Amino acid sequence: VRATRGGEEVRGYAPSMGQIFLRRFQMVTQFRQALEDGQVSVHYQPKVSLPGKHVLGVEALVRWQHPEFGKVDPDEFVPAVEAAGLVGALTSFVLEKALDRVRRWLDEGLRISVAVNLSVRNLADADFPAKVADALERFGVPAELLTFELTESGVMADPQRALPILRELHSLGIVLAVDDFGTGYSSLAYLRQLPVDQVKIDKSFVLGMGTDLGDLAVVRSIVELGHSLGLTVVAEGVEEDVARDQLEAMGCDVAQGYLISRPLSEERLEAWLQARTARSPGHKAETVL
Ligand code: C2E
Ligand code: MG
Ligand code: MG
Ligand code: MG
Repeated sequence: VRATRGGEEVRGYAPSMGQIFLRRFQMVTQFRQALEDGQVSVHYQPKVSLPGKHVLGVEALVRWQHPEFGKVDPDEFVPAVEAAGLVGALTSFVLEKALDRVRRWLDEGLRISVAVNLSVRNLADADFPAKVADALERFGVPAELLTFELTESGVMADPQRALPILRELHSLGIVLAVDDFGTGYSSLAYLRQLPVDQVKIDKSFVLGMGTDLGDLAVVRSIVELGHSLGLTVVAEGVEEDVARDQLEAMGCDVAQGYLISRPLSEERLEAWLQARTARSPGHKAETVL
């Protein structure tokens, strides 16, 4: 593999199939221990309202600092963990961290919701809603401050099994969002049958909307479709002012992306929020950008 970085040639070797397989195998066998050893953490990316720019919530995004491989991207290890049947442990880990974070914000007078990404395997676990209800209870977090993000393909994989679980989660008062919308089957009829509250426009369309009229048309039609179904529309991958302004003009409700903030460690998120939060004694905490 040859690539240039800052004009200087960087040489590397493409890993062989065997090396990829071995790395994946190691990740899967080491995952549980990694959770216990503190190698896995949760970062948070803010979501802000348009046009008000209030911080509505954050999305929890898992990070793995592997002792040998360094930072491992969730796009690599989450599918491996899923395939190995270990995603239940991952989801409970992230959920507990996220609810603990929301609990401490509530104690400070801040109402900030948290979104946790689910895997298709969570939607095949009939006990999942009861586990979630128990966690909400233990942390004393109202269900409406928790959002679950699920991909269309995740639900489409086995709708018969996923639907009753989604209905149960929804009836607890948890907010449900369809993630990466536009990349899967995206059937309007299908979306109507799901007990969902939000659609998140996939970042590929949002990133492309400034230069590609096709992407722009997709974004516009998802905003319209979402609103006509009474859903909140969230755009992910907002990197540029222009995109934010266009989304705002279209009536998109919520923006998330590097323009607002990258995913941050808990510590850095605190500093980010501190700089944007007006706390006045006796008043409800207001979080403004
Ligand atoms: P996702 O849920 O669609 O999350 C959005 C991804 O886009 C995140 O990547 C985020 O860092 C990235 N992103 C945010 N804003 C921008 C932007 O402005 N520009 C660009 N180019 N990218 C942006 P990340 O953190 O690497 O996560 C990748 C995927 O891994 C997530 O996609 C989600 O599907 C999965 N994932 C992450 N954490 C978890 C988890 O706790 N559980 C499960 N099951 N999946 C997770
Ligand atoms: Mg997500
Ligand atoms: Mg997404
Ligand atoms: Mg994704």
